[in-house]
Amino acid sequence: MARNIILLGPPGAGKGTQAERLGRTYGVPKISTGDMLREAVAAGTPLGRVAREVMEAGRLVGDDVMVPIVEERLRRPDAAAGFVLDGFPRTVAQASALDRMLAGRGGVTVLQLVVPEETIVARLSGRRVCAACGANAAPGGHEATCGRCGGGFVQRADDGELVARERLRVHEAQTAPLVAYYRRRPGFTAVDGSQSPDAVERELRDAVAAGAPVPRR
Ligand code: AMP
Repeated sequence: MARNIILLGPPGAGKGTQAERLGRTYGVPKISTGDMLREAVAAGTPLGRVAREVMEAGRLVGDDVMVPIVEERLRRPDAAAGFVLDGFPRTVAQASALDRMLAGRGGVTVLQLVVPEETIVARLSGRRVCAACGANAAPGGHEATCGRCGGGFVQRADDGELVARERLRVHEAQTAPLVAYYRRRPGFTAVDGSQSPDAVERELRDAVAAGAPVPRR
């Protein structure tokens, strides 16, 4: 059975962490559009040049740019048995494009991480990520270097308080409506994302187990 999983939730809700865990559990790739864009920025590709300024301002890269990137990624063989999408879709236009891409590929499970805004702002402004591989540092900042690759920790360019607030505003305006788009589908579940990562992971796994995906509408 295909494990097609979409994670929804504001920036800082824990989508990246949980996407990685679920991907490992189900043996499917985590597909993070934010990671793909950051790699393009770091490599200085044409996409990176387009994306950099938009990302640093906390706004969204255009649907016309994002949809083909995801379409190409989902066509790769490692995503044939499923995937965990982190950060896509972010607009209703992206969600309906995704529906078209997934036609005939089995159902989707849509998991929403719900976290209060003040918790999010506190998390984002305290978040440190590895400059080399993007892994999150453990909250509290006790590790000096990344346990995965030995890189140093930095604040993400778009995690400063002002940009974080803009990302939340953009999320409310453009991404939050996706909950209404998906809510009535049988594969949709909302989970309290303010719990510990382990507790959130347990609830997400339960939701995946309970809602064997059903065909899209
Ligand atoms: P994230 O790591 O998911 O928080 O994404 C970081 C930034 O990348 C976002 O604030 C956007 O500027 C951009 N981005 C990531 N995914 C998308 C998407 N699906 N559509 C538009 N912009 C995106």
